[in-house]
Amino acid sequence: MKTILSEPREPHSVGAASTPAFAEVALPLHVFQTFTYRLNPALSEEAVVGARIVVPLGRKLVTGYIVALTDQLSANLADVDIKDAQSLIDLEPVCSPEILQLARWVSDYYACPLGEVIKAALPPGMTPSTKRDFIKPKLRRFVRLREAGEQKLTEGQSRVVQALEQSGPMSLQALCEIAAVGASTVASLARKSRVEIYDGAVRRDPLAHASQEKPVAFTLTNAQSGVLQDIEQQIARGTYGAFLLHGVTGSGKTEVYIRTMRNALSLDRSSMMLVPEIALTPVFSRRLRAEFGDQVAIFHSSLQKGERFDEWARVKNGEARIVIGTRSAVFAPVQNLGLIVVDEEHESSYRQQESPYYNARDTAIVRAQKESATVVLGSATPSLESFYNARHGKYTLLTLPQRVGARPMALAAIIDMRNVFARHGKPRVFSDELLDAIRTTHERKEQSIILLNRRGYSRFILCRSCGETIQCPNCDVTLTYHRSERVMVCHYCNHRQAVPRVCPACEKKYIYYVGEGTEQLEEMLTQFFPALRVARIDRDTTVRRKVFEKSLADFSNGEIDTLVGTQMLAKGHDFPNVTLVGVVSVDTGLALPDFRSAERTFQLITQVAGRAGRGDRPGKVLIQTYHPYHYALRHACAQDYEAFYNEEINYRKNHSYPPFVALASLLVHGPDLGRVRSDSLELRKQLDLANEGRKCRILGPAPAPLARLKAEHRFQLLIKSRSRKHVREVADAALKTVSNLRSVNLEIDPVSIM
Ligand code: ADP
Ligand code: ZN
Repeated sequence: MKTILSEPREPHSVGAASTPAFAEVALPLHVFQTFTYRLNPALSEEAVVGARIVVPLGRKLVTGYIVALTDQLSANLADVDIKDAQSLIDLEPVCSPEILQLARWVSDYYACPLGEVIKAALPPGMTPSTKRDFIKPKLRRFVRLREAGEQKLTEGQSRVVQALEQSGPMSLQALCEIAAVGASTVASLARKSRVEIYDGAVRRDPLAHASQEKPVAFTLTNAQSGVLQDIEQQIARGTYGAFLLHGVTGSGKTEVYIRTMRNALSLDRSSMMLVPEIALTPVFSRRLRAEFGDQVAIFHSSLQKGERFDEWARVKNGEARIVIGTRSAVFAPVQNLGLIVVDEEHESSYRQQESPYYNARDTAIVRAQKESATVVLGSATPSLESFYNARHGKYTLLTLPQRVGARPMALAAIIDMRNVFARHGKPRVFSDELLDAIRTTHERKEQSIILLNRRGYSRFILCRSCGETIQCPNCDVTLTYHRSERVMVCHYCNHRQAVPRVCPACEKKYIYYVGEGTEQLEEMLTQFFPALRVARIDRDTTVRRKVFEKSLADFSNGEIDTLVGTQMLAKGHDFPNVTLVGVVSVDTGLALPDFRSAERTFQLITQVAGRAGRGDRPGKVLIQTYHPYHYALRHACAQDYEAFYNEEINYRKNHSYPPFVALASLLVHGPDLGRVRSDSLELRKQLDLANEGRKCRILGPAPAPLARLKAEHRFQLLIKSRSRKHVREVADAALKTVSNLRSVNLEIDPVSIM
């Protein structure tokens, strides 16, 4: 059997054979191949590509997806080896030809198993290993009228008939309530054949309890109109076209998205809007529901399975024509797709961090190409790749350079923590400047957001006196301190050195390990200001969606004065009474051992500044740092994206990072350190063999920045080349020699190499 990894299979044509003898089945497992099963005559009659099928695998039965039907076995398969498929689950495809085609692309491009991709493309719960726990439509008893006859009706029965005449068919429960009768009254009417009781699906609506806002009718600004016109012209052409919408925070991008969706709908084409965070979806989706009513379906992972299934089904049957959702919504079975909006396109959450490793933004581009749709990537801080693509003509650049209503951008100022340290002779988490600002903001009855940019896990080393961090001599990234071994390690090339006693730059002995938590900040603020009502939002607290939404609602209602959190607070929210945003430490982010750390920091500060001063009062942003002159901070404070881009793109070019090279990372992981180390050395050897022509640069193995995760050791290798094809050839050839594929993760275009 061919592996998908090296040679993607063409879909077989079913044209000639109306009763195919074999089905090619993709299983939702981490195996890089599809399996062939024999179909008995009955199955053969009913099997369709895209349907789920139950097949034997070893001694178990598993559910897979039919990806092709064929009359002939490939030459390398012997008839006797082929097992019989057991049963079909669907008579119609759950995976349409368009989605299957997209899944094939994802599987091929990102080198991940087709079955895993299809599983990710379908609502959760549709692929369990046994048939029992399938997600199904939720059934309720409904009642409808039948023809009136000679029947004599009681008073209660008449009320039932009247209610049905007035309001049409309804659920038994609602009917009993409206007509003030018991179910037996309806049952007796059914016996008289005056009504019919039947099972109907009820919709589990994730927004059923959301308050309905009235749609707002703005007059677009000139800048908005111009942008809208360009996009509308493209939608009208009905061909593929891609835009990068670079609009500063508060420039009214959302309004543009909504109008473009309305425009697509008026041309009878559906649209899709991808958003990065679950947290943002309620805000946006309520707005969309207000605009488009039931035409909107919502896809995100914190919905209950039943809700997700129903929303998916409404899209599939064409009832819902606008989809809003997170990453996996890119696979929504939208028909006649006209437009895809990817909001905050730079966000790393578009990248799935487990297999199948795909990037929803890039998948959206490909989907738009395949389905002749328009795609709009929107951001105040476009990713370097996207802006580069716009500069080089791959995307059309559109800009909204000003905030709506000429509201000024928030003023951003840097607080030099080296001075704070010098003043107090010891480290401080909060500078006096920031504390004063929090106090006065509170006194003015305005609100503040305090942010900790802490994404890293392992800590790094910093001199409090001069701000120096310790860098790798080969790689231009920060060395990461490994406490267990008490050494500093480069996570790109494995350079190691001892922790210095004094700072190599200023020779003072203020070496310091960076890292504070949000919880600690919350506590400190409550101690400083007992009257301040503080709430915290980060990954720990957002696990529970209700708690998270309540905190945001309380903040929005003014019942909380200060919100403390991680960078997820920086995005999307619109709190008009927030006039202060403080960033406690930006340095953890700046010094992460990742080539995107400057970009991420720039994005964070810009987004954060966008949260302040969205109402009538001006906003202020204070950033505490030991690196006051870092270009990412300087340009972010000046809100100058292009200046940052120009500097950063040079860095990428000089150090051979994307978009100038294609990058792949290989992560070898397992419980046994010795084994992981020797496996990764072996992998390196195989990569070198495959790289005979030296078309790629191979780095590592080195311990991954998260050197141990979930009780597994992790080593990382990187492959770089100007040619994407070479990267894949080398990676694929080396991977073929790996016996246990589960122990190696291959990521194409990793968004971070953490
Ligand atoms: P962005 O998504 O670019 O950060 P938003 O779409 O959130 O910006 O818009 C910022 C604010 O301006 C919102 O409160 C929005 O309701 C408002 N707004 C958008 N367009 C207009 C307009 N044409 N006239 C008046 N207010 C607008
Ligand atoms: Zn290095």
